[in-house]
Amino acid sequence: MSRTSVHPDTVLLHAGRPSAAASTGAVPVNPPVMRASTLLFKDLATMRDVHKRREQGERVLSYGRRATDTVFALEDTLCQMEGGHRARIFSSGLAAISTTFLAFLKPGDHVLISDSVYGPVRKNICRDLLERHSIAYTFMAADGRDAREKCRPETRMIYAESPGSLVYEMTDVPALAALARECGAVLVVDNTWGSAYLHKPLALGADVSVIAGTKYLVGHSDVMIGMATSNERAWQALDRTGHMLGHVVSPDDAYTTLRGIRTLATRLAAHARHAMEVVRWLAQQPEVARVFYPALESDPGHALWKRDFQGACGLVSIELDRHIAPSFAEVETLRDGFIDRLELFGLGASWGGYESLVLPVNLSAMRTVTDWSDSGPVIRFHIGLEHPTDLIADLRQALMGLRQARSPEPVSPTKST
Ligand SMILES: *Cc1c(COP(=O)(O)O)cnc(C)c1O
Repeated sequence: MSRTSVHPDTVLLHAGRPSAAASTGAVPVNPPVMRASTLLFKDLATMRDVHKRREQGERVLSYGRRATDTVFALEDTLCQMEGGHRARIFSSGLAAISTTFLAFLKPGDHVLISDSVYGPVRKNICRDLLERHSIAYTFMAADGRDAREKCRPETRMIYAESPGSLVYEMTDVPALAALARECGAVLVVDNTWGSAYLHKPLALGADVSVIAGTKYLVGHSDVMIGMATSNERAWQALDRTGHMLGHVVSPDDAYTTLRGIRTLATRLAAHARHAMEVVRWLAQQPEVARVFYPALESDPGHALWKRDFQGACGLVSIELDRHIAPSFAEVETLRDGFIDRLELFGLGASWGGYESLVLPVNLSAMRTVTDWSDSGPVIRFHIGLEHPTDLIADLRQALMGLRQARSPEPVSPTKST
């Protein structure tokens, strides 16, 4: 059976499996963890041959920094999931992103960046990479509607993230891909939300899909890893830059990520189911002005999500009604109290593990094309695999606390016990 003909769920389980041992034909279910810096060759002719093949772009076992079989297995798995030509694995999602910027941009070039990108792209990559190297950048609307008018003759890259970070604005990836081709630019899409399973940007015309594997691929909040999968035309630049910078990941981290991928479909389905229950409950609360979740029919990005995605995940954000207190600062104080009162939601960065998380979000500082100054404070949740009844009960008690803080009434002694 051809591996490309099976259902995506089956790909997750069988991709990257080692080939049969010559002696017995037995195959371990999982690839061995191959730890190596030095690899020994049987003679000089073989060594020279391997180096020559490597220079010609072939992936061969040659030196630890060029990765070993465990990492190759993860690369192959990503390629099958994304429908890509080749993939490179990095020590974090941000390393995959910054390397991709370096691969396709040089001084004098221009890059168009989505307004909804992951914070450090705006903060660190724009300031410490692009500005320092005289690479011009412009932010475009998160949905890409103004991309055409913002393109310049020197635009070499369009960088999008769909759905966007924090409030999940959807982007029309096929439209951006067509524009990129017209402009002679590459389209790079951050596919962390879609995790190479819910969304396949390369199939929609993108040249590179980058993922923070740290999130759902690993799935257990215990490994930092990133990946960039590309089509054939973008591969050489990406591969050369990744190699030039000396990027490598440990085989143990690659192994752990592969193990996470085996249960990705099952976990994502549960995250999405739990998230939808929580979303429906949150939407009914009078203090909640908006719920951001593309799988919700009322979400502005719902139609695009339905067209380009195979499912949803556990990321949910809400905007508190800014009128629940006289000033924005007081609403923020109420929000902070609400967050501190939550017991099942951990307070911390990242998401995509099995556990629920919560974070306050300052959207005004994270968007420049869209004005968020009129909106209420935003809270981001990652809905984990805890039972949704417990999560809703926790949210309910924290919201009761917010209501109390809003209009404090003396609590009678009988009630307080
Ligand atoms: C977390 C995240 C990253 C960065 O990944 P790290 O592994 O933390 O470096 C990039 N893009 C998105 C959308 C993310 O959520």
